[in-house]
Amino acid sequence: MHGFTWEGLPIRVRFGAGARSEIGAEAERLGVDRALVICTPGRGEALAREIAALMGGRSAGVHAGAVMHTPVEATEAALAVVGDCRADALVAIGGGSTTGLGKALALRTDLPQIVLPTTYAGSEMTPILGQTEAGRKVTQRSPSVLPETVIYDPELTLDLPFAVSLTSGLNAIAHAVEALYAKDRNPVVKLMAEAGIEHLVQALPQLEATPRDLEARSAALHGAWLCGLCLGSVGMALHHRLCHVLGGAFDLPHAATHATVLPHAVAYSTPAAPEAMAGVARLLDAADAAAGLHAFAARLGSPLALGAIGMPENGIERAVDAIMTAEFWTPRPPTRDGMRALLRAAWRGDTPGGA
Ligand code: NAD
Repeated sequence: MHGFTWEGLPIRVRFGAGARSEIGAEAERLGVDRALVICTPGRGEALAREIAALMGGRSAGVHAGAVMHTPVEATEAALAVVGDCRADALVAIGGGSTTGLGKALALRTDLPQIVLPTTYAGSEMTPILGQTEAGRKVTQRSPSVLPETVIYDPELTLDLPFAVSLTSGLNAIAHAVEALYAKDRNPVVKLMAEAGIEHLVQALPQLEATPRDLEARSAALHGAWLCGLCLGSVGMALHHRLCHVLGGAFDLPHAATHATVLPHAVAYSTPAAPEAMAGVARLLDAADAAAGLHAFAARLGSPLALGAIGMPENGIERAVDAIMTAEFWTPRPPTRDGMRALLRAAWRGDTPGGA
């Protein structure tokens, strides 16, 4: 048996339809009197106002200034608001972009965080923060960015458009897939990863037919929680590194990048992790994990090609250079030819055949 170390993350989780109504009690439990509620502009703001109202007197206001990839300018603007309203806590309601702003603020202020996730990105379960400065995204791990409390209320996800639900769900599945062959993998993470994939593989097709089905929304969010825990618990490998490189170099949408790259990264890594990937194939009812992931994404209408989500074809060599100079562990070490073939196939959206 593979030896392992296990260390649980100290995050309090409340899960259930309507659980957002507990926000006041959870704030009180943390001794919070003046929480700043943060979100993205638009639809996110309406949800944030509802949460602020549910907090009664414990909210100091709403700041709708979260931006994808956590640019430091957005964090500095929010930091001024935190100071102006003398906030003593942060409540983040939204997807990974909003959670990212909350974490960036917590890093600078050490304020406690309550997160109400509305996508399946999983950032709320990790001590990881990615921030963008002068066009460069830098990731760091710090226990101070880990939220104190996370409230998962599937009702908050009922209006998440199916296309976003799908790419976000594939982003979650990617965390679990890479956890299964992580260098520091362990039996607890294996259980969470396989259960997380199973929930999402069952729920996403149901959401295509009935996006407001509360049972399917609950299953998807449950799966996303488990996949997020995988991301927070063990190190990621080639797939996450590729997405980080591509997202940063070409400003690609986060979840869609994960959705398009995953089958190709899995095809490359499978020869070095055959047992783990056989488990993924089984969950997809497929003969092969990479082909199964590709077929699953194609069947539900997910983008399949990096070329279709904004990556220029002449960027492939630049991406190969970046991945070959990056330092990271992955089960099957990258070769220049292997990465070129992988990225060409992902750029075109081919059925993965192994690089
Ligand atoms: P996002 O937060 O940008 O949300 C995507 C879109 O969905 C936005 O337009 C948002 O307004 C909308 N939306 C969110 N919830 C909604 C709802 N319930 N109803 C309707 N619309 C809704 O995207 P994301 O994919 O959740 O997060 C991506 C960001 O998170 C990236 O910056 C990524 O780097 C980061 N991330 C970080 C970690 C980590 O551990 N640090 C993990 C995953 C993702």
